[in-house]
Amino acid sequence: MIEKILIANRGEIALRVIRACRELGIQTVAVYSTADKNALHAQIADQSVCIGGPKSTDSYLNSRAILAACEITGARAIHPGFGFLSESSRFVRLCDKCGIKWIGPGADAMDAMGDKANAKATMIKAGVPVVRGSDGIVTSLDEAKSISAEIGYPVLVKASAGGGGRGIRRADSEEDLEGALAAAKEEALRFFGNDEVYIEKFIVDPRHIEIQILADEHGNVIHLGERDCSCQRRNQKVLEESPSPIMTPELRAKMGEAAVKAAKACGYHNAGTVEFLVDKDRNFYFMEMNARIQVEHPVTEMATGIDLVKQQILIASGLPLSIKQEDVRLSGHTIECRINAEDPKNNFRPCPGKIEGIHAPGGFGVRIDTAAYQGYEIPQYYDNMIAKLIVHGCDRTEAINKMRVALSEMLIEGVQTNIDYQLALVRDEEFIKGEFDIGFLNRKQLL
Ligand code: ADP
Ligand code: ADP
Ligand code: MG
Repeated sequence: MIEKILIANRGEIALRVIRACRELGIQTVAVYSTADKNALHAQIADQSVCIGGPKSTDSYLNSRAILAACEITGARAIHPGFGFLSESSRFVRLCDKCGIKWIGPGADAMDAMGDKANAKATMIKAGVPVVRGSDGIVTSLDEAKSISAEIGYPVLVKASAGGGGRGIRRADSEEDLEGALAAAKEEALRFFGNDEVYIEKFIVDPRHIEIQILADEHGNVIHLGERDCSCQRRNQKVLEESPSPIMTPELRAKMGEAAVKAAKACGYHNAGTVEFLVDKDRNFYFMEMNARIQVEHPVTEMATGIDLVKQQILIASGLPLSIKQEDVRLSGHTIECRINAEDPKNNFRPCPGKIEGIHAPGGFGVRIDTAAYQGYEIPQYYDNMIAKLIVHGCDRTEAINKMRVALSEMLIEGVQTNIDYQLALVRDEEFIKGEFDIGFLNRKQLL
């Protein structure tokens, strides 16, 4: 069993991991930047090490400083959380060399999934449905034209190394193609240092539905059902729920099976998420695999009663999965709202600053994951998500009502937040009917 874990992250996810470690009797080491010296994660861990200046590149992305912190504290395992180094196969290889156990997938599986054109080819071989498109990288305009004519417009030109919605351009006709190709390549080069792109069919108004998987180091893989993340603004998730309002037991079984196949195809272990687009006829297509714990993992925890972070640690300890596919039971309905320090009336501009007062809602079926406290100063350097509010009810109607009550109880003073925006969303008629797709929030003026 692992004795001590260093958590290479900050904020609510660092806290989430520290709590799981404590329940398992594992010692914890927090790392923090100078901007985070008063942060909760640095205060509640058994040990804390300052790893550099405020900028992520100086601290939370500073692999040398993080490995040095392992060395001086004797931590032999790292939990990366999400963001930062969580999907860096280079860092995973460094950890391997230093004899540090990585709580996540192996570097090779990460690489297989990190390059999207590559990942798609792997999925095709494994028999997982993908969006129609080019066979790998497209190198010339002529090639782009002939592929697009074959699959039909609109198409997307997508960066193979892409992430965070970058390096993606849409072409509605052959005339758009040259510009889309150039723009996607330019952005891909700028953000990822790699201008390789591929082409795929643009799916009109799909839903984003992802499947959570758990895979041990002995070849056992199970899935834990879906999360519907179609409520997005500019490709950023806003609200997630499970089950998806459009899910059927048959579709869940098919998508679950596809996700398990995807994980097996690249020799994946630990927790992961397979993202799919689902069209109006409930056809689903593999989009990408996230090789880490996700922001919205509590949705699945509340739906299944399974602690995903503890499972990650048990898997990394080399234990076989103790849960079988037939043991996984989904109960009731879960909704998560991401609470951000931002101003919805001002183009969602991030609003760092001091939290003068905070009141967290509570009650039966209400969970809040946050590292915020009264007097806490939200630094400007990092993500502006300050809390996740999660509710679990016996059905979708009860969950929506619970979320409304919880949101209206929640108070954050001193900084602007999107609480009122989330309230408007859970009161919205189309949302209540479950009728939405990934473009829904971009089309809608909620406030
Ligand atoms: P998911 O919902 O799939 O977990 P998110 O959009 O919530 O994905 O992103 C997870 C975390 O990764 C967020 O905290 C965010 O700060 C971080 N992140 C996302 N994109 C990038 C990026 N391009 N560079 C650095 N961090 C990123
Ligand atoms: P990233 O790695 O940047 O998250 P994704 O491949 O996951 O890139 O795509 C980002 C978002 O773009 C998706 O969540 C979805 O909303 C949209 N998208 C991606 N591919 C398609 C497609 N073929 N058709 C329509 N929308 C798409
Ligand atoms: Mg994505």
